Amino acid sequence: MEQTDNFAYLLPFIFFVFGTIFLIANRWSPGSARYWGLGYICAAFGFAFPILAYWLPLPIQAIFSNLLFFAAFFSYGQALLVRFNRPTWFWTRFEFAIGAFAVVCWLIVVREDLRSQLVIGDASLAVLLAISVFAVWKHARSPIDKMLVGMASLVVFETAVRVTVLLVSTSAGDFASLDQFLSSDYAFLMQVFASIIGFVMALTVLGSVVFDVVTGHRRAAEHDPLTDLLNRRGFEQALPDAKDGAFPAGAVIIGDIDHFKQVNDRFGHAAGDHVIIGFAERLRASFRNASAIARFGGEEFVTFLPDVSRTDAADMAEEARLAFEAMDWSGQGVLGSITASFGVSTTAPGDHSVHDAIARADACLYVAKNAGRNRVISEGQRPPDSPPTLRVVS
Ligand code: GH3
Ligand code: MG
Ligand code: MG
Repeated sequence: MEQTDNFAYLLPFIFFVFGTIFLIANRWSPGSARYWGLGYICAAFGFAFPILAYWLPLPIQAIFSNLLFFAAFFSYGQALLVRFNRPTWFWTRFEFAIGAFAVVCWLIVVREDLRSQLVIGDASLAVLLAISVFAVWKHARSPIDKMLVGMASLVVFETAVRVTVLLVSTSAGDFASLDQFLSSDYAFLMQVFASIIGFVMALTVLGSVVFDVVTGHRRAAEHDPLTDLLNRRGFEQALPDAKDGAFPAGAVIIGDIDHFKQVNDRFGHAAGDHVIIGFAERLRASFRNASAIARFGGEEFVTFLPDVSRTDAADMAEEARLAFEAMDWSGQGVLGSITASFGVSTTAPGDHSVHDAIARADACLYVAKNAGRNRVISEGQRPPDSPPTLRVVS
């Protein structure tokens, strides 16, 4: 059957190409792509083994092919669990795979029972993948996630159907022997169908890998690596209506660490970085209902709180100011307390964008700095007459 032979060469080649692409893609989006790559390459060699090692005795060919398919399905399962951030149950799944593989080897070598070997082998592969599908099922949210889980389920389902059909049709006397069944058009069609599912599955995995690479880059482009808060670009993206003039009503808080240059000068840049990270954590904790908290510059952070009044925002800023001042930095090699100043404003009907409110909050911050720092100044609030004592790191 020449048609079958061509097909036999094509499938491992396609799987090998996909596997290689996934391994390369893992460089840009480390994680599940590595396991998809390993899985597809193992499957490629599993299909190709009887062709490449035709000179080996049949039982040896069967053992190696099975080993490669067990490795492939184990990797697919690992890929799914890693991608959906689920516990990987690595050793439990590994022990199951080893156990099932040992049974298959026993059936090949000792029992010389090809039918049981096919049934137990395929059923174990289906179970191996089904464990992961079951674990990630509820966690698929995006369309690409759902397609991925759907395709993996289809692979499990198709394998289960293949096992059942093999069991039923070879025991019901439809075929005189297993050999006759395996060389039937029906078995060939099943093989084609399984290959098509494997191919579509590979396309879906490719889609998910590309999706992960793109979202990973996008996330990196919109976040500050030091604090993991948004950067300026991320802030703009988080407030999508800002450009249309229909931006949401709410409060803007700008916070800036006082005399930060001195922190760097006296305790070093690395200690300064820790203080910036600590300030960011403080803001995250105090402004929980913010729709965007961004690091705009070195030690200057802008927060947008939708539907929050100026007085409520000022209270939150005051809470953040007091908590930041109370922080202990001795673990980071910084002596004394560090303070921050805040400017608070709200969006107004005449504003063209949220940046108008940001500019007013910035003006308030400027007043707070001039009034002696370590304070919150709200829009419309008269600057205090006498500056408080300077709170410089001692
Ligand atoms: P003020 O109270 O008026 O805000 O004074 P300041 O010293 O805090 O303000 P200034 O803007 O003069 O100094 C900010 C400093 O922040 C200057 C810069 O070296 C430092 N800086 C900017 N980015 C980083 C960073 O990522 N890490 C560290 N350690 N320092 C940074
Ligand atoms: Mg500063
Ligand atoms: Mg500054």
